[in-house]
Amino acid sequence: MSEKKLPVSQTRLEEIAATYGTPYYLYDEGAIRANARALNAAFADAGFTGFVEHFAVKALPNPYILKVLDEEGLGMDCSSLPELLLCERAGITGEKIMFTSNQTPDADFEKALALGAIVNLDDITHIEVLEALGGGRLPEMLSFRYNPGPDKVGNSIIGNPVEAKYGLTRGQLFEAYEIAQGKGVKRFGLHTMVASNELNIEYHKDTARMVFTLAKELKERLGIALEFVNLGGGVGIPYKPEDEAIAWPALARAVRGAYDEILGSAGVAPLIKTEYGRPITGPYGWLVCRAIREKHIYRDYIGLDASMADLMRPGLYGAYHHVTIPGKEDRPADQVYDIVGGLCENNDKFAVQRPLPKIDVGDLVVLHEGGAHARAMGFNYNGKLRTKELLLREDGGVLQIRRAETAEDYFATLDFSGLKEFK
Ligand SMILES: *Cc1c(COP(=O)(O)O)cnc(C)c1O
Repeated sequence: MSEKKLPVSQTRLEEIAATYGTPYYLYDEGAIRANARALNAAFADAGFTGFVEHFAVKALPNPYILKVLDEEGLGMDCSSLPELLLCERAGITGEKIMFTSNQTPDADFEKALALGAIVNLDDITHIEVLEALGGGRLPEMLSFRYNPGPDKVGNSIIGNPVEAKYGLTRGQLFEAYEIAQGKGVKRFGLHTMVASNELNIEYHKDTARMVFTLAKELKERLGIALEFVNLGGGVGIPYKPEDEAIAWPALARAVRGAYDEILGSAGVAPLIKTEYGRPITGPYGWLVCRAIREKHIYRDYIGLDASMADLMRPGLYGAYHHVTIPGKEDRPADQVYDIVGGLCENNDKFAVQRPLPKIDVGDLVVLHEGGAHARAMGFNYNGKLRTKELLLREDGGVLQIRRAETAEDYFATLDFSGLKEFK
């Protein structure tokens, strides 16, 4: 069981609403810091010195969050040019950044090289591309993404590895390291990412076994001593109250077990990297909305001032996000509602047929686990404007770290002046 708590009282949520208006995302800085420290401590305690978690920037691309995580010793995982630029502007460069992308445009590779990021290639043909973009030279350090294909079972969000567009096959992987070695690359990493939102610790241990076995084979066959292996992302969080979180110490111990078992006498001792996004910030963000309409037709609806433009996981994957009504936590859940936004898409529903206490127009309605892949996935369909982000500081104060979009933002890519001559 994971208890679904709010970071502050109903009164404080209302105070924040009075200052900033609803809806708003609220992120708990103290909880994010404590979680980052717990992760680092868990891997250190398991004997992994030099462990680095590279936060998946796409999960919560806000420079204030990146700065907080950087201060806690995390690196970053970027997948596009704008994400690289975001890190650069947050003061994060060099090998603190791991760059993993696919169908990568030249400009993205060029920026990754210029920043000195660790480049993780998604395909064997990208070796030549990178070499050409680097003026005929490959970087000193190179990593490759492995796709195990039929050797590993995937999960629902990321899909079956055989059908996944990512990474190199096993055969290509050995060939790629050999080519890179021949072209003078000195330092090597290995990466994989085969799951998403997976709460089964055994799945993650199996993934670790898989890459450690490859590390051993690379040593045996090519004499390559990998500097690191990156276990990817994919550690789940308890979205539902009945879900069980993966505890960092248990995960680190599981990885340690696999490491000792496979690499114990292999003569290669790679550092461990991860690139978690969801479990770093996911549980420490909330989308705080207000019930603005109610409607009773074939079902009972509560309409919020947010829409799937702000949080699209439920609409996109039918994902569960826990809903609470601050101040009514102890009342019986004796109503059944569809909690909806105002987009002209019937999947703009935050919760479907959810038992909840009776909601009145004017109540705050809070969506939990809004700290990762939440606002970041938003979009502007239907002219819906995305909401603001607020950081709950450790002293209890609140800092706006992103304002809400305005209609002017929606128009920013349009040139209305051209309309005058346009017939
Ligand atoms: C999305 C992604 C991650 C982060 O995944 P989480 O589920 O948020 O931990 C890490 N690495 C890559 C390559 C990704 O695409």
